Amino acid sequence: MNRLELNAYAKVNLGLDVLRRREDGYHELRMIMQTVDLFDTLTLEKKEEAGIEMTCNIEGLPCDERNLVYKSAKLMFEEYKLPGGIRIHLEKRIPMAAGMAGGSTDAAAVFNGMNELYELGVTKERLCELGVKIGADVPYCIVGGTALSEGIGEVLTMLPNVPDCVVLIAKPDFDVSTKYVFENLHANSLTYHPDIDAMAEAIRAGDLQGVVKVMDNVLETVTETKYTEITEIKNVMKEHNAMRAMMSGSGPTVFGLYKSEEDAKGAAEEIKKRNLAKQVFVSSFYHPIK
Ligand code: ATP
Repeated sequence: MNRLELNAYAKVNLGLDVLRRREDGYHELRMIMQTVDLFDTLTLEKKEEAGIEMTCNIEGLPCDERNLVYKSAKLMFEEYKLPGGIRIHLEKRIPMAAGMAGGSTDAAAVFNGMNELYELGVTKERLCELGVKIGADVPYCIVGGTALSEGIGEVLTMLPNVPDCVVLIAKPDFDVSTKYVFENLHANSLTYHPDIDAMAEAIRAGDLQGVVKVMDNVLETVTETKYTEITEIKNVMKEHNAMRAMMSGSGPTVFGLYKSEEDAKGAAEEIKKRNLAKQVFVSSFYHPIK
């Protein structure tokens, strides 16, 4: 095989709790992760000459050592002593600095894709061990689907698929850095913790209402407090009958869950009309083939 094209799916957090800030500065998390049908596309092509050549459709996104795609390819070359080089094109659609793990999922696609392209036969477990060197969310993105993620994100428990519904995604026109949010979170004095165990139970029972009831994200205490647009988007989503509207990850992306596609489309139009976000997607959960 010389060439491979594959999709890299974005995630939302149906639940996100921060247990504590560790001595080393990392935060201990408990999150329910879910891939959505919004993806970047990567094209991987072997070349004879050594070296990584990367291109991307987004001006301003570096295509060198600073890109997680480049870093991951380099790690694969070193780890498996691969011959020749690789050409990678990244077609980005996932909003950036958005709380949707855009960079991590691109990195994960490189690990999965190079494993296939070079017919390495490496297990997912081993790919995850390599992936965590690139970023805490990379192991989850390597497997995708519905999962409980613990530790700094590297301890994964797979869950059955969350029941399907319509997912409206809106990324306001400003970026939020994950680092900023964690630095401003007072993790050790949070007064409320989402019930992540109840959500995992509801997922195991195939109970979407049970999931919706306990959806919460403690990072809203930082990002939503700073940016009122997040509350405004949530309100529009709720006015259009969202079962629940919440920020994903460290934000600023907001997503709403709907029974009806018509309601989701109505909210999408209103969000655009009121200039609350330009990047708006009516999507659904994405379940990889197991
Ligand atoms: P997370 O949900 O994991 O916090 P995010 O959505 O907040 O992720 P990303 O879109 O992954 O953030 O990227 C944040 C920064 O990482 C970008 O501003 C960019 O400079 C850098 N970056 C490196 N590689 C990539 C990539 N392949 N795609 C997007 N951003 C990348």
